[in-house]
Amino acid sequence: MDHKPDQKVVTRFAPSPTGFLHIGGVRTALFAYLYARKHNGTFILRIEDTDKSREVAGSIAHIQESLKWLGISWDFGPDNPGKFNSCLQSDRLDIYKKYAEKLIEKGLAYPDPYTEEETEAFRQDAINSKKPFLYRNHRPTTEGKWDGTKPLRFKVPKIKRYEWYDQVRGTLSAGEEMLDDFILIKTDGYPTYNFAHIVDDLEMGVTHVMRGQEFISSQPKFLSLYDALEIPYPIFATLPPIMGTDGKKKLSKRDGAKDLLEYRDEGYLPETMRNFLALIGWNPGGDRELFSTEELIANFSLEKIQKSGGAFNEEKLRWMNKEYLRLQNSDFLKNYLSDSLPDKLKSLPQYNDDKLNKLITVVFERVHNKSEIKESAEAGEFDFAFVKPEFETNLMKYKNDQSVKDALVRLQMASELLAEADFSSAESIKKSLWGYAEEVGKGELLWPLRTALSGKERSPDPFVIAYVIGREETLSRIKTACDKIAP
Ligand code: GLU
Repeated sequence: MDHKPDQKVVTRFAPSPTGFLHIGGVRTALFAYLYARKHNGTFILRIEDTDKSREVAGSIAHIQESLKWLGISWDFGPDNPGKFNSCLQSDRLDIYKKYAEKLIEKGLAYPDPYTEEETEAFRQDAINSKKPFLYRNHRPTTEGKWDGTKPLRFKVPKIKRYEWYDQVRGTLSAGEEMLDDFILIKTDGYPTYNFAHIVDDLEMGVTHVMRGQEFISSQPKFLSLYDALEIPYPIFATLPPIMGTDGKKKLSKRDGAKDLLEYRDEGYLPETMRNFLALIGWNPGGDRELFSTEELIANFSLEKIQKSGGAFNEEKLRWMNKEYLRLQNSDFLKNYLSDSLPDKLKSLPQYNDDKLNKLITVVFERVHNKSEIKESAEAGEFDFAFVKPEFETNLMKYKNDQSVKDALVRLQMASELLAEADFSSAESIKKSLWGYAEEVGKGELLWPLRTALSGKERSPDPFVIAYVIGREETLSRIKTACDKIAP
């Protein structure tokens, strides 16, 4: 059982606004979201903005925009804090102060009396005597009143080995060397992460804490604070790290640790990203890879989260996007395509809806994202649809032919067949020419025909081109080609 049956699930995603939302963070948000939705629980977006020196302007808006694009909706967040008044930690300083005072009253917090130089001297002593430096070895004998001019430190009540249960990793433990008197409230009045997240998780009724493995080493500190405040532990689930495509190295900028919205701009669909990210480090079992979001929610469980790192497989991401693109309606695909085409094509008089409608049937057979469409367009691979080709006559000479003139009769015959052909699809056009192609040789017919229609060494096949440009334009291009060969 993941949680007590009578307990309403509350999860949260708690990013610090220190820049863009990278893939690892998004995956954490997604898991917390899926789990909350699966249990008809509550999902909170809380902004942990207590380190003002690291804050990057605009990142709170950016985080929200990213999650909204992905389709991760929160029940409480910066824009709809509801009963919490604010989901920004910087607005909640009074609450942390209240808890800090509780600890002071219990004799479990004290103002750190030392200057930087004094602390540095303690540190040097520790280094010289080859012992770890711990604040708790230097607790002041008399504690002054805390007036905010000194950092408020937690006085770890019990120095002991801690053991705890992690829903993903099982029973974990850490020795007392991991426990120290950490800062609760800094001299700028803001709490530390260590303190604030525990207070907020309590205040917000968070039942399940899902986060990355970088927090495991701090867990004994967290537990000692839960104990000091006499509050129950939430359920902990440490999510596996996201590794590069090879599954070995941690994800780097190059292979995916980039801003989620860069994937949007490259033409990845939100449903692709949800499906893809959900399967990094979690698997419902079986070989199936494509899951609608409803299915992800229905199947999600903490038991199926793996301990070891999950690979960010770029190839799989591309494949998945192609699959999701194929499920889109033609209006969507038309917009997607025209978004990706350069203005120099879009401003041509031949650029119209009919062309786009026909192009989408061929383009989405092979492309995976917008970047690929852009690249193909840059390479001139879509020019055939909008511009009459200009090229050297010799381009139409097939390798077995003596001269380009040999192609003339074949092109004329193709023209006659195409005048009668069914132009409703590339396939039906192919049918009308295939018998003749087999008779005279496939390359012998298809090479000159394709180059006559496209004017390019490389292009889609002639049936596709004919289909996209239509009968009239096809016949006109063949005629121009024949006139070039035999003026
Ligand atoms: N603010 C922390 C971070 O940015 C959140 C960690 C947590 O989920 O407790 O990673």
